Amino acid sequence: MKDESKVKDWRSTGRRKARKELYANYVPFVCVDCNKTSKFPPKDAPRWFNEIWPEENRVLDYSLQADHETKDVTNNDIMELAWRCAGCHKLHDNKTGIGESTKASTSSIDDYM
Ligand SMILES: [Zn+2]
Repeated sequence: MKDESKVKDWRSTGRRKARKELYANYVPFVCVDCNKTSKFPPKDAPRWFNEIWPEENRVLDYSLQADHETKDVTNNDIMELAWRCAGCHKLHDNKTGIGESTKASTSSIDDYM
């Protein structure tokens, strides 16, 4: 954590990779926690975005975020990745912030397999 600028860049790279991975695995574009999705496709949406974008619950004014279940942004294994809305993302981060294990939460991804 000495070189902060380096870490920041590395985090955003991890997020970008995570999004690509979620798209590549056809993970439905809905928040895993509240099942909501955004009103508009994200800027980096693939051509076939409609296939993973449910018509129900298009209520969010902002795009979903690629969340790392384990908070390890270098681990882009699809089992560790999930779409989350900003609200749930924050809650999830707070939960993991107090040192709880996040391993159990990966089961939410299994629901989509
Ligand atoms: Zn949510």
